[in-house]
Amino acid sequence: MLHGKMMHQQLSIASLIDHAARYHGDTEIVSALTEGGFERTSWGQVAENARRIASALVQRGMEQGDRIGTLAWNNRRHLELYFGVPSAGMVCHTLNPRLSPEQMVYIVGHAGDRMLFIEKTFVPLVASLREQMTSLRHVVLLGPRDEDAAGQIPGLLFHDELLEEGDPQFAWPEIEETAPSSLCYTSGTTGNPKGVLYTHRSTLLHALSANHPDGMGVGASDTVMPVVPMFHVNAWGLPYIAAIAGTRLAMPGPRLDGESLAALIEAEKVTFAAGVPTIWLGLLTAMEAAGTRETSLKRTVVGGSALPPSMRAAFRDRHGVELIHAWGMTETSPLGTMNAPLAKHRDLPLDEQDMIGNGQGRPLFGVELRVVDSQGHVLPNDGQSEGNLQIRGHWVLDHYVGQEKSALTFDGWFDTGDIATLDGNGFMIIRDRSKDIIKSGGEWISTVDLENIAVSHPKVANAAAIAARHPKWDERPVICCVRRPQSDLTEAELLAHYDGKVPRWQVPDRVLFLDSLPLGATGKVVKATLREQHGDVLWDDAMRELRAEQDGAAARN
Ligand code: ADP
Repeated sequence: MLHGKMMHQQLSIASLIDHAARYHGDTEIVSALTEGGFERTSWGQVAENARRIASALVQRGMEQGDRIGTLAWNNRRHLELYFGVPSAGMVCHTLNPRLSPEQMVYIVGHAGDRMLFIEKTFVPLVASLREQMTSLRHVVLLGPRDEDAAGQIPGLLFHDELLEEGDPQFAWPEIEETAPSSLCYTSGTTGNPKGVLYTHRSTLLHALSANHPDGMGVGASDTVMPVVPMFHVNAWGLPYIAAIAGTRLAMPGPRLDGESLAALIEAEKVTFAAGVPTIWLGLLTAMEAAGTRETSLKRTVVGGSALPPSMRAAFRDRHGVELIHAWGMTETSPLGTMNAPLAKHRDLPLDEQDMIGNGQGRPLFGVELRVVDSQGHVLPNDGQSEGNLQIRGHWVLDHYVGQEKSALTFDGWFDTGDIATLDGNGFMIIRDRSKDIIKSGGEWISTVDLENIAVSHPKVANAAAIAARHPKWDERPVICCVRRPQSDLTEAELLAHYDGKVPRWQVPDRVLFLDSLPLGATGKVVKATLREQHGDVLWDDAMRELRAEQDGAAARN
């Protein structure tokens, strides 16, 4: 093999925290306390604590490759684990607190977690499940000694005591860049959750690529508020990106309602944030209620589900905040695309610029996308052809944890389960998830389009479009709508709002007004539940109509 003459260093998470400590050691990290209030620390202190916690793990018998679970909010102690655990050669396994207790027991057992770090919030839950979590050697409370918690979980340890006994000079072991660093399970809306095991290398390449100017684009003068949870897909890589860039952090802890986020933004002069659309809906409502116009917030990355164009416009036009639409999934670390315009788009009419900006954007360097038809034939990147979205690249999984079988197609791509179009520059529009799209009389109707129109109605708080069974068309669209408080919105009013925005045959057949929509562990609407509950609403009427039609036809003959 031929070699050039350059240094070779393994890409490692330890190098990120070392960099932040060395060059941004005095940069502040503001972190919400779970019990209320805030604490102030710095990259230097977090880095020292990362070494202390790593050494305490080794002292407790943890070995390279061991899984260390976390059930934690976005805060300073979780950040210490994010860097300390993988830098010591172990795997930081973030658990989603919104999973059902059965799923949590399943995931801890499947991963083989040996230690579990938990917030005070979850003491009763873990106390009730502790006996079933047989792989665990220790449970650690993320906080100081707490007799009440110790009474509930026998043998409970305390993060702050581990920090005290830990060695601040602990030397990071040498770790291959392909070694596992963190683990996250998909939320398992279908079947059991599946584990995705990231490497030091995939994590670094993802972070480096995602922070270019057309991506997250954060720098040392930003104050970053990661709202996207650290318990799911590494908070979109933001902790690592923040360490590379040396940004100041404002971590919101468990309080993610609009008022709390607005207050944190205001108090800490947050300039950049990231989160799912429902979070920003909450913030927007809080800002409108308080009559806030001016904000320090400049840019926000939004992904996880489709960003409604009306929300993007409201933030931009009323508050001067740019919403950057991104797409990704657990299996892709998660970022695959982010939306930033090309030079040639600047001359387009505003509505065309908007059309492009409302989509999910284009691939980051390091991943490739393609769309294929149901037979697997690659479709053209013409902005029109809808197909199954597939991805490959440096931070895309190849196997789920514990599965022998590859997760990829025969030619090495990962099928995302999304349906999308791509244009010649790679700009992507997600039309739907393949299991959600509505198949009406052989044609497809995008639930995303129908929802975007519904939520652009001023009297609508939230909406989900689902396929309802239909004897003539197979499936027809039904809107499950949550009205804004005190709104008197009627079905006819909402359906009239579709006039001219979609072809007539795509207008929903029915509007169901609900008090709330069922949300899954990652804050997304669980359409499978809505389909189970309301998938038959059209059937009886449609059958009657069909019979009447057939009787009419028979009478005419
Ligand atoms: P889960 O919801 O099972 O936890 P992920 O959190 O990995 O899975 O979510 C990935 C899925 O979320 C994608 O496959 C896609 O369907 C959806 N998604 C993510 N970002 C967007 C976006 N910007 N627009 C539309 N859908 C999105």
